[in-house]
Amino acid sequence: MNEEFKCQEMIEVVTNYLESALPPNEQERFERHLSYCAGCSTYVDQMRETITQTGKVPREESLPPALREQIVAQFRTWKRG
Ligand SMILES: [Zn+2]
Repeated sequence: MNEEFKCQEMIEVVTNYLESALPPNEQERFERHLSYCAGCSTYVDQMRETITQTGKVPREESLPPALREQIVAQFRTWKRG
């Protein structure tokens, strides 16, 4: 059984991860993905920085669609690299 996270899933659960709201097995999968995916690793770092600056976890659904698309496009670039 191979249930690796996909990058799209990562974006969807990242706020839960940062709030430590993921079940332990999900968190383990998340961190495993981070260990080999530079794109998501960078994304999580950026989210952490945003939290440091604003003091709160940015809600994924509150992201402007343009920004969200930009992030997804960035993922594609990272994948290609
Ligand atoms: Zn990824």
